[in-house]
Amino acid sequence: MNNEQLKKSLVKNNQPAYRVPQIQKAIFQTGISNFMEISTISKELREFLVRELDILSFSVKKIVIAKDGFSVKALLELRDGLAIETVLLSAGTGKWSVCVSSQVGCALNCQFCATGKNGLRRNLIAEEISDQVLFWRQYLKKKRGADKISNIVYMGMGEPFLNWTEVKKSLKDLTDNDLFAFGSRSISVSTVGIAEGIILLAKEFPQVNLALSLHFATDEKRNKYMPVNNKYSLNNLKKTLQNYFLKTNRQVFIEYIMLAGINDGEMDAYELAKYLKSIGKRQLLHINLIKYNQTERGFESTSGNKVQIFKKYLENNGLSVSVRKSLGQEVFGACGQLAGK
Ligand code: SAH
Repeated sequence: MNNEQLKKSLVKNNQPAYRVPQIQKAIFQTGISNFMEISTISKELREFLVRELDILSFSVKKIVIAKDGFSVKALLELRDGLAIETVLLSAGTGKWSVCVSSQVGCALNCQFCATGKNGLRRNLIAEEISDQVLFWRQYLKKKRGADKISNIVYMGMGEPFLNWTEVKKSLKDLTDNDLFAFGSRSISVSTVGIAEGIILLAKEFPQVNLALSLHFATDEKRNKYMPVNNKYSLNNLKKTLQNYFLKTNRQVFIEYIMLAGINDGEMDAYELAKYLKSIGKRQLLHINLIKYNQTERGFESTSGNKVQIFKKYLENNGLSVSVRKSLGQEVFGACGQLAGK
């Protein structure tokens, strides 16, 4: 829902100013799916809004629900016919995380990621990003009355910092108390390491969490599997993170996918610890070891035992580490598996 359009429509209909927050609240916070559900306004106004506006900027083509019900993926068709995916995940606590896409496809072509395989189609506009959250709010309201969205992660399709103008607008709406009203700290933006973007996030949204998809700790390997590293090398990243810490003093999440035989050996753990320690602020780094989710791109995930050995090595070097539980695999909604199909 484009809030500016909503306000314009209400002006056009000669509505008093106090109507605006009333209707905003029903849409963005209560999560109504249809204007006719707003019982506090007249029938005429409801019908006018139905004629005038769409609440969502896409139609829902498909919803896939995992057997346990705790990961749900939606395939959305945008107005121009292109498709994106968004995922709703929970550990079963009544709290849910929403994973949003920021672009249709992705230009970066990381070798292990399904999204990058077919390149970038286009950037999403802000409304198409925040509407993914709105859609899941409506969904939870209908299906699971009391459940709430507690986190939003920009970890769906695309690279958020290559679409900063729109991502920024979406962050503004998501944290606006008159609109979605999420706390900045419940939102995370994940990047491959676009330096300019990291610095802009620090400046403009210092309380929004930053996640860095590192995955490799030498330029040789990172160049090979993540071509973007040719432009933003590990040394460049290090300086950017140091700068980020100076500005925010906030923790950064280091994402590390475990790929069997590729980045999960003893030497890799050594290189990773060495690199992270060289950044300086060890206590502000938290490493998430991620299970590789199967894609058409081959690769095998590291066995549980080897993951534990890797983890121990990092911990012995004074680093804080968790093994991230992979939710959503069954519906192909896990990270890197989103391909818009
Ligand atoms: N472009 C941004 C945002 C996408 S986030 C970024 O890369 O950070 C998607 C996350 O899933 C990234 O950490 C990405 O590296 C990771 N990922 C990609 N393919 C994956 C796969 N097959 N299995 C597990 N994680 C994957």
